[in-house]
Amino acid sequence: MTNRSVSARLADTPRVRETIMAAAAAARGQGDPRAMTHSWLLTGPPGAGRSTAAVCFAAALVCTNPDEIGCGQCEGCRDAFADAHTDIVHVVPKQSIIQVDEMREIVRDAARMPTVARWRVIIIDDADRFNQQAADAFLKTLEEPPAKTVIILSAPSTDPQDFSQTLRSRCRHLYIPSPSHEEIVRILTEEEGASDHDAALAAATSLRHIGRARLLVKNPDAQARRARAINLAELVFHGDQAFQAVSSLIAAAKKESVSAYAEADERERDALAQSLGAGAKGKGAAKALRGNEARMKELEKDQSKRSTRRNRDVLDLTLVDLAGVYRDAMVLRSGAGVALTHPDFEGLSAEIAGRVDMPGLVACHDAITACRESLGMNVQPTIAFNGMIGRIRKACNVK
Ligand SMILES: [Zn+2]
Repeated sequence: MTNRSVSARLADTPRVRETIMAAAAAARGQGDPRAMTHSWLLTGPPGAGRSTAAVCFAAALVCTNPDEIGCGQCEGCRDAFADAHTDIVHVVPKQSIIQVDEMREIVRDAARMPTVARWRVIIIDDADRFNQQAADAFLKTLEEPPAKTVIILSAPSTDPQDFSQTLRSRCRHLYIPSPSHEEIVRILTEEEGASDHDAALAAATSLRHIGRARLLVKNPDAQARRARAINLAELVFHGDQAFQAVSSLIAAAKKESVSAYAEADERERDALAQSLGAGAKGKGAAKALRGNEARMKELEKDQSKRSTRRNRDVLDLTLVDLAGVYRDAMVLRSGAGVALTHPDFEGLSAEIAGRVDMPGLVACHDAITACRESLGMNVQPTIAFNGMIGRIRKACNVK
């Protein structure tokens, strides 16, 4: 399995496979030269496997097999897939917003010539997390990329909120769609050792979000959050309990989003304090300190933005789970015979399907969509959620 070729790894998304294989061929001087360019932007829904596609692309570029591009067998391919190739720099800013210092390092890396492969490949995951200074620092590299360097950026979308439009206009865009249900089941059973049953459930429930599906088979907290979200649909029928559940759900989301980054926040503050503050003495010290305060404020602002964003993501996942219940109720009511989103909560969706008519179910679903939109526009979560519960109760004829 570890020796699978690029072509096999991308078999689930044929259009992505064709684009990448054609580009890698052109990079070897084969086929249409226009298929290749130096700067790429991969976008796609969260969890669709942008990072995997980027690594596949890199492997195809550094592969040394003359007969099969991205063979999966040669040293180049194996090192690429093991994240150990000397000419591939893979930046994964999971815990961090990309700061300008880190970016300068990346720019230096990008300028170096490849050592063993034909190309030097710089992959930057979550390139939407550049702060403005970092984006500015990167612009020149994208505009005039070094001759033997390929840059592969990845971001959720080309939306201006997600990605700098100046950077976007310098890249060729490739959309990475969500993997199929079967592909997720395969990944979870082969790579995470999940049982067929758990893998199928996680694939359905995650709405084909691979990262989330992985979490669901590995992480009990994620399972608990999902169960709490689904339970809201039940509590709607029990007086004020749904409103109480909303408060604790929002508090839990907040706690989760803060604790997710608490360590990283601390580490970043320490690192910045050390890199800026240490060594300054006498007259210079006061001046350095003032400069440092501004840098520290900027870092804290970025960190707070990150925490807010994470909080919004967690709440949105909750709403996606809740919407799944009403979708399932509609499926059951219509007898459509389509696979359920939450097959393990079929009892609940069947009960709702029995109590609420089709227009009511549609109204419930709409209420959730409206709540997601409100959160996107920074409406206070409690207000948005309570409004939604009110609308759902009305749609379900709860007095
Ligand atoms: Zn190879």
